[in-house]
Amino acid sequence: MKEMLKNLIDLQRVESEAVSIKLKLNNVAHSLEELDARVFDSGKGLQEIQAQLDELQKQYRRHDSDIQMNQSRVKKSREKLGSVKNNKEYQSILKEIEDMQLKNSLVEDEMIAILEQIETIERSIHTKKSETEKIKAQVDIEKKTIQQDMIRNQQRLARLETDIAKISQQVEPELLRKYRLVKDQTRGIAIAAVHQAVCQGCNLNIPSQMYDKLQRDEKLTMCPHCQRIIYWEETE
Ligand SMILES: [Zn+2]
Repeated sequence: MKEMLKNLIDLQRVESEAVSIKLKLNNVAHSLEELDARVFDSGKGLQEIQAQLDELQKQYRRHDSDIQMNQSRVKKSREKLGSVKNNKEYQSILKEIEDMQLKNSLVEDEMIAILEQIETIERSIHTKKSETEKIKAQVDIEKKTIQQDMIRNQQRLARLETDIAKISQQVEPELLRKYRLVKDQTRGIAIAAVHQAVCQGCNLNIPSQMYDKLQRDEKLTMCPHCQRIIYWEETE
C-alpha cells in the first residue's frame, strides 16, 4: 500500500508547491501597485510648492518693473529740475522725487523678503526632489527583483504542472479520485503521515488497533478524526 501511496505523497508535495507559487504570482500586481504608490506619495505636495514658487517669482518681477518705472520717472523729474524757474515748483518736484525714492526703497525691502522666501522654497523643492529620486531608484530595484522572481516562478510553475500531470497518470484512478475528494474536503492536505500513532494532519491519536494495522500496511486507511489518507512513517 505504501508503495502506491508514494506517488500520492509526491503529488501532494508538488501540488502544494504549485499552490504557494500561484499565491506569490497573484501577489505580483498588488506589490507593483504598492511600489508605484510609494513613488507617487513621495512626489505629493511638490506641485503646490512649485506653484507657490511661481507666484513669488511673479511678484518679484512685478516689483522689479515697478522700481524701474519709478527710476525712470525720477530721472525725468531730475531733468525737469534744471529748467524750473520758480522755487515753489522746484520744491514740489523735489518732494515728488523724494516720495518716489521712498516708495522704491519700500519695494526693495519687500523684494529682499520675497527673495528669502524663494530661496527657502527652492531648498525644500531640491530636498523633496532628491528624496523622490532616491525612492524611485529604490523602487526600480525592487520592481526588477519582483519581475525576475515572477519569471522564475512562472517557469517553476510550468515545470510543476508537467510533473503533476505525469504523477497523476501513475496513480491508480480510483485512488486518485479518492485523493482529490479528500483534498477538496480538507482544503489542501489530503495525505498525512502517522508518527507514533499521531496523525500529522490533525495531531490527534489514532486508535491502537488501527495503528497496528497501519503498520502492517495492508489497505487504504483514513484518519478517523480528519478523514485524511494516512500512512505509517517510522520515526526515531
Ligand atoms: Zn488526522
